[in-house]
Amino acid sequence: MVIMLFKKLSDVSEAEMQRLISRGSGLADVGETVSAVLSDVRTRGNAALREYTKKFDKVELDSFEVSEEEFEKALSEVGPELLGHLKIAAENIRAFHRAQMPETTWFMELQPGVVLGQKATPLESVGAYAPGGRASYPSTVLMTVIPARVAGVEKVIVCTPPRADGSVHPLTLAAAKVAGADKVFKLGGVQAIGAMAYGTESVPKVDKIVGPGNVFVTSAKMQVRDIAEIDFPAGPSEVLIIADESADAAMAASDIIAQAEHDPNAVSVLVTTSETLAQAVKEEVLIQAENTARSEIVKISLENAAVLIMDSLDQCIDFSNKFAPEHLEIMVEDSDSVLDRIRSAGSIFIGNYAPVPVGDYASGTNHVLPTAGYAKIYSGLNINHFLKYSSIQKISKSGLESLKETVIALAEEEGLKAHADAIRTRFGSRPPK
Ligand code: NAD
Repeated sequence: MVIMLFKKLSDVSEAEMQRLISRGSGLADVGETVSAVLSDVRTRGNAALREYTKKFDKVELDSFEVSEEEFEKALSEVGPELLGHLKIAAENIRAFHRAQMPETTWFMELQPGVVLGQKATPLESVGAYAPGGRASYPSTVLMTVIPARVAGVEKVIVCTPPRADGSVHPLTLAAAKVAGADKVFKLGGVQAIGAMAYGTESVPKVDKIVGPGNVFVTSAKMQVRDIAEIDFPAGPSEVLIIADESADAAMAASDIIAQAEHDPNAVSVLVTTSETLAQAVKEEVLIQAENTARSEIVKISLENAAVLIMDSLDQCIDFSNKFAPEHLEIMVEDSDSVLDRIRSAGSIFIGNYAPVPVGDYASGTNHVLPTAGYAKIYSGLNINHFLKYSSIQKISKSGLESLKETVIALAEEEGLKAHADAIRTRFGSRPPK
């Protein structure tokens, strides 16, 4: 097994650094395949969905929508204990996203007679994608549907790939019920994204598609943006750990393995000021990789992994800001000073006892996060992804009078005389007939 890089930063070549930073998620490679499937779904609707579900998920379906009987069966299969845990996670996610909810309407008086404000309105319909290829992701149903509901979105549907027997994992359906989804469709991959973006005979078109997925799903989301808004590229998972000698090697290694088990394209990186820790983490990773349940996937994705030894914490922070990881773990003594200097990270986990999996499932923060360096420009999924904002102005005659000369001067200069006249009209000067 190979760990892609184990080096001092000063020994890392330009090409190695480039490969690490620009970690290709393979989006470019699948673009053409994805676009062909999307255009087929757009033109042929359900017939295309049936064909691609047979081809990629190896199952023939008559109907894509999960029926009430299927929900009931799923709920009876999920024992009360697991259901209890699902509800605990759901409550925490609800509480965190409620705290993000802005004041829906506010006003300020800029100057006498000029009152400005803003009104937040939820989107009408949202489609959530919950992955289901290499693993099932009931947790993603909670992470996407709950914030949409907290924001007040009226219609929320979920798409998730069917299993080989044509069913959906019972906990995924239980999560849909607990989170309050309106409908669940047994559709995965590109065909699911196409169905939600364009609409078919069975699947309603939605205004916005959110949720993570593999390269096919991510590429499909990027390609339907002309017709449906999306959250951001949330592809194969990544973790970057900043650690000093105070970190626990076995804990750091287990977080690397946890990330690596998601997908062969997953990326895990440790940057540390301690050569001793670096060595210990490497040894632990190699041992844990042999003994973990999804050893096969882990070993492939560890080829994308790196352990880099840095001269200072400043170097670690600079590297992290360049890398812009989906998940950032800070395992250092003085975490506050590191946190202050972090500029780009999807979600930040501080201390030995805040591993990524706690945020993946139950602490309440959202696990749908930008990958492949997109944390430089995008925020992780939050309440604002489900709201839009209208600005408001209430202006009296005296308020307008105070702005009159400024508006007229700027409008005239732009050559938009009618704009200037719209102001003059309100002060007795009628436009020429
Ligand atoms: P998935 O649901 O994303 O993908 C499965 C679908 O991929 C299948 O239904 C199939 O239709 C399609 N597919 C598979 N092979 C194909 C091919 N050759 N051509 C066209 N379509 C094909 O499930 P997954 O594969 O398990 O991936 C889940 C991903 O989600 C992982 O990469 C994981 O790391 C990521 N994830 C990311 C976040 C985040 O926030 N960034 C959160 C959770 C999970």
